[in-house]
Amino acid sequence: MRTNKYTVRIDKEACIGCGVCNELAPKIFTSDNEMKSELRQDAEIDEKLLLKAAEECASGAIVIIDNETGEQLWPKND
Ligand code: SF4
Repeated sequence: MRTNKYTVRIDKEACIGCGVCNELAPKIFTSDNEMKSELRQDAEIDEKLLLKAAEECASGAIVIIDNETGEQLWPKND
């Protein structure tokens, strides 16, 4: 999924289904039938909240790329 600034996807292999992103941003995230996170198709994405959710995801399963630079913002690779 693409917003003005970011491209975002869920790494389903990494997601442990903890529900943190869902609680934090229910308008962006939902769960699939395995309780793994999924982006809502009709999501109106608040970019600040998206970054916050990615930051809070302990598994690094919310992958965010900066559209302009191509840099991966989350998870951090360091
Ligand atoms: S916070 Fe991360 S691990 Fe937890 S449900 Fe969301 S994407 Fe999955």
